[in-house]
Amino acid sequence: MPTMSFTTPDLTPDYDALVQHFDEFAAAEVAPRVQRMESSPHSVERDLALLMAEQGWFGATIPRQYAGMHAGHLAKTLMIQSVSRASGAAGAILQASQLPISMIIHFGSDEQKALLLPQISSGDTLLSIAVTEEETGSHVLGMETTARRDGSDWIIDGSKVHIGNSHIAHIHCVVARTASAETAGSRALTAFLVEHDRDGLTVERHQPALGLHGFSFGKLTFDGVRIPEANVIGEVGDGKDIAYSSSILYGRPNLAAVSLGIHEAIMECAASFLEGRRRYNGTLADLPVLRDRIGAMKSRLMACRELAHQAVHMLDHGQSCDGELINSKYLNHKWAVESGQDAMELHGAHALRTDYPLQRLWRDVQHTYSPAGTGEVQRQRLAETELGEPPVQWSERLAAKTSLFLPTSTDA
Ligand SMILES: Cc1cc2nc3c(=O)[nH]c(=O)nc-3n(C[C@H](O)[C@H](O)[C@H](O)COP(=O)(O)OP(=O)(O)OC[C@H]3O[C@@H](n4cnc5c(N)ncnc54)[C@H](O)[C@@H]3O)c2cc1C
Repeated sequence: MPTMSFTTPDLTPDYDALVQHFDEFAAAEVAPRVQRMESSPHSVERDLALLMAEQGWFGATIPRQYAGMHAGHLAKTLMIQSVSRASGAAGAILQASQLPISMIIHFGSDEQKALLLPQISSGDTLLSIAVTEEETGSHVLGMETTARRDGSDWIIDGSKVHIGNSHIAHIHCVVARTASAETAGSRALTAFLVEHDRDGLTVERHQPALGLHGFSFGKLTFDGVRIPEANVIGEVGDGKDIAYSSSILYGRPNLAAVSLGIHEAIMECAASFLEGRRRYNGTLADLPVLRDRIGAMKSRLMACRELAHQAVHMLDHGQSCDGELINSKYLNHKWAVESGQDAMELHGAHALRTDYPLQRLWRDVQHTYSPAGTGEVQRQRLAETELGEPPVQWSERLAAKTSLFLPTSTDA
């Protein structure tokens, strides 16, 4: 597997060493599992999740005072990218439990941070973020799962769907309705920590999907699940801000990194297929019309790397970059899918054969469209930055907590 080249400013030799480390892990531990994961879509890949957890990788952005790597968002992107290049499912596992860390770092109480962040850093505790519901989907404020007070406890009823790492997370970070939209407006939602073994919580049977075999993004059902007040994240009514900020600061870059890793693998597949397929006195790679398509794919891939690395580089520097994070997620998916389609056509009938990896990459990349906002959602958010009131810049407000380069960065 070739070492990638960098385009983002300020990439130092330390990042090169990190990428080499991630690539070596991907080659030794991820790639050999791919065939088994592909051939058992009904299974959830727990061992690899635990192995990545043991590396401390789920604590990539957790400050050192909580035993985290404190390596920053660019390092996290490179990590997810390397692993996703070997397996989109493994990359999805790696990103899904890092996404909710944002909730704890940015909104958790001192007690929650002191308790949970070291457990996440050591790999002993994996999280999930549970926001989406079957009926309301991307309309987060329309959610119907409720949490009501009962003495000093809260009782949660309802269900969540498509929850990344649903089957391996030890704690689910659940956003639920605590007031009606009429009375509380955008303060109607609240975030909670729900341990996986709470009475009344059911993780429904794993259903295989089109791709990402081994990754679980399943359904959680809450039937009178009782949790204590200490499990509220932030203030009652903070739920929408917590969900949105986590999606911008962690969800968008994490999904961009998964798309980017799969895109790199698609590029490698297409180039090596053309170079290896004999035609006339040479190979298909000699034909100008096919070289032109490879050139177009390479152009998209290079632009995707720039977008992904630049956005998290800005985040690491505490700069305002919500637009860059949104655009990077949007175009990294869109252009990876376009390259995937090119690669499928360049493979001819071989594209459809399960003994060729391309069909897996093509299926896997379809899964990065919806999470952390569909294309429509990204374009709406980008339009808001041009029209009317500028939206809240979560990067400006919160990035200092995980920034590598601001004085407050270890003071999360
Ligand atoms: C692999 C994967 C992992 C995921 N992980 C998680 C997770 O960890 N936690 C979690 O909570 N969720 C997760 N999700 C769910 C994801 O966040 C949702 O799929 C997403 O919010 C969209 O919801 P939906 O699929 O119900 O689509 P819908 O909201 O029903 O949308 C369907 C279509 O209508 C469009 N649309 C909807 N509303 C509007 C509007 N107002 N204006 C214009 N167009 C609109 C959408 O863009 C889309 O094209 C995951 C999904 C996938 C595929």
